[in-house]
Amino acid sequence: MTEKVAIVTGASRGIGAATATLLGRNGYRVAVNYRQRSDAADSVVAQIVAGGGDAFAVQADVSDENQIKRLFASVDDRWGRLDALVNNAGILQPQTPVQSITAERLNRILAVNVFGPFLCCREALQRMKTGGNIVNVSSIASRTGSPHEYVDYAASKGAIDSLTIGLAKEVAGRGIRVNAVRPGIIETEIHADGGEPGRAQRIGATLPLGRAGRSEDVAEAILWLLSDRSSFTTGQFIDVAGGIAPS
Ligand code: NAP
Repeated sequence: MTEKVAIVTGASRGIGAATATLLGRNGYRVAVNYRQRSDAADSVVAQIVAGGGDAFAVQADVSDENQIKRLFASVDDRWGRLDALVNNAGILQPQTPVQSITAERLNRILAVNVFGPFLCCREALQRMKTGGNIVNVSSIASRTGSPHEYVDYAASKGAIDSLTIGLAKEVAGRGIRVNAVRPGIIETEIHADGGEPGRAQRIGATLPLGRAGRSEDVAEAILWLLSDRSSFTTGQFIDVAGGIAPS
């Protein structure tokens, strides 16, 4: 049983919750970050603890630098080490064409989806003195561009891809690996935020694998990237996307 410590951002629901739970089952002590749904975060923690693991919930909005610092400080206080970061928290805004986009919307998307992961990486790297592991949750949207729906979201994930490639090379010599997953259409509540709760079912049926993905499908790829079983892999991407062909 490893004693590794992981932070999973946005772990109260969806892909983050499945990842935190899987890490908990695989011996990681897990900081379950959330923004507002403390009930959901508490139930993820309870599930991990019920399985014999160790976890606690930490409220912090990853678009706010001070809240990010507080998140990492709370892990320092509790466990005094950090081995793994999963930059999962991310948002969508209602579907819109680029010609109608607002500066306010762009600011929010970039603050949560790009600034947050960058600053979380900074905080993690300051603590990973003897190696470590980062997995960024990008999206297949970085390759398709999400036309007519959310090109801003797709572009924010493009930034995450560049972060993954550049940072992996920057810190490889320190024994720190940085990889990313690119989920396709996964059944979570994020699609309701985009204005189409049934989007996963609509698109899932058209995919080569004939269904939308499950959060657990993505969590398994993240677990592998964090584990020693992928020890020669860095700066890479796993598309967990049911066979979507990027345009
Ligand atoms: P989700 O079901 O909407 O859950 C979002 C999670 O992020 C929740 O735990 C939420 O916390 C948290 N969160 C939102 N804003 C936050 C903030 N500012 N600070 C901290 N936490 C925040 O989303 P999901 O579908 O699991 O998506 C997770 C990641 O996968 C995102 O990066 C998303 O872009 C990516 N992704 C998803 C899909 C998909 O089809 N679902 C596809 C490709 C990529 P609260 O519960 O407190 O609100």
